[in-house]
Amino acid sequence: MADTIHTKVLIIGSGPAGYTAGVYASRAMLEPVLVQGIQPGGQLTITTEVENWPGDTEVQGPDLMVRMQEHAEAVGTKIVTDHIMSLDLGQRPFTAVGDTGTTYTADSVILATGAQARWLDLPSEEKYKGFGVSACATCDGFFYREKEVLVIGGGNTAVEEALFLTKFASKVTVVHRRDTLRAEAILQKRLFEHPKVEIIWDHVLDEVLGTDNPRGVTGARLAHRETGETRDLDCAGIFIAIGHSPSSELVKDQLEMHNGGYVVTQPGKTATAIPGVYAAGDVTDHIYRQAVTSAGMGCMAALEAEKFLSEDDTGVKGWG
Ligand code: FAD
Ligand code: NAP
Repeated sequence: MADTIHTKVLIIGSGPAGYTAGVYASRAMLEPVLVQGIQPGGQLTITTEVENWPGDTEVQGPDLMVRMQEHAEAVGTKIVTDHIMSLDLGQRPFTAVGDTGTTYTADSVILATGAQARWLDLPSEEKYKGFGVSACATCDGFFYREKEVLVIGGGNTAVEEALFLTKFASKVTVVHRRDTLRAEAILQKRLFEHPKVEIIWDHVLDEVLGTDNPRGVTGARLAHRETGETRDLDCAGIFIAIGHSPSSELVKDQLEMHNGGYVVTQPGKTATAIPGVYAAGDVTDHIYRQAVTSAGMGCMAALEAEKFLSEDDTGVKGWG
């Protein structure tokens, strides 16, 4: 028979928001259960240097997330390897069912499911995913030693991916749809100064070019954003870095969304429209989307859940 686990606080997600919520909820003696999902540690596990986590001039993303997990565990968070497949917020206790068959019932839920890489949705992109098309330079960059690669996008991720790829590739071409980058200034400076980098402005990826047998990328057809004029470029790999979409499918018909799927919370809070349900980190934040802001929201969510649960159990108002 499948297990059922009851908890006062169910934290869904193991990025900075989830682990921070775990630390705070544990220290409030709420004995939280945290379900890690298919990406334990979240998005920072697919990057290398993180240079804006306060207290660490430079830290490797995966190392930082191991430390966060250890911290949450050390203060009492029960960490579970599972992925939530369904979540019913219709009545309390709330019910979630994991991929392992475990049912989780919870007096409060902190949704910290973060975000996932976006794709261009081109048929040729789909065809060559895993065969030369990637959304993770840290994972796949190694395969492009002394080869030419393309990075599509103009944000922080695209620039970081491009700089990382210069360690392996003979040439990195960044293709951006506008004539200015969105990335922060220090990253732009590093990119512009790098001898292996070329930037193609005002172009989009029109088609991935490749072979069938063996399946692999040989080039890219780029189109000028305004004229539509196309040009072909040789390359062995294409990294798509055009941003991230919130992972909010679990609550799609249960909570209000805005700006393309970000969960709406009350102004200045992580509380959603359903009492006892909180959203923290990239799943709700369409503006900042940083590790430190996600961690901050994880803290807020745990403190708000603590207040909610203490009022709920005793009728006495909690702090805040
Ligand atoms: P995430 O880190 O996205 O984690 C989401 C978690 O939810 C994952 O553990 C996943 O497994 C889990 N999950 C999802 N669905 C389910 C489900 N159904 N059931 C259970 N679990 C689920 N920010 C910075 O501040 N500095 C940086 O240098 C930096 N570099 C970055 C580099 C890259 C390549 C990327 C992609 C992002 C970078 N960011 C950086 C942004 C930063 O990673 C995010 O803002 C931050 O990780 C968001 O944290 P989060 O906790 O909201 O979610
Ligand atoms: P982003 O900031 O949303 O940038 C996405 C980029 O892709 C933009 O340049 C955008 O172009 C382009 N783009 C979007 N859709 C496109 C399409 N269909 N075709 C072509 N180009 C397209 O996403 P991100 O770079 O992944 O960053 C996400 C968040 O994580 C941000 O908040 C970022 O600050 C954070 N992050 C931080 C760091 C860091 O602190 N070092 C590192 C990585 C990520 P336009 O510019 O024209 O819109």
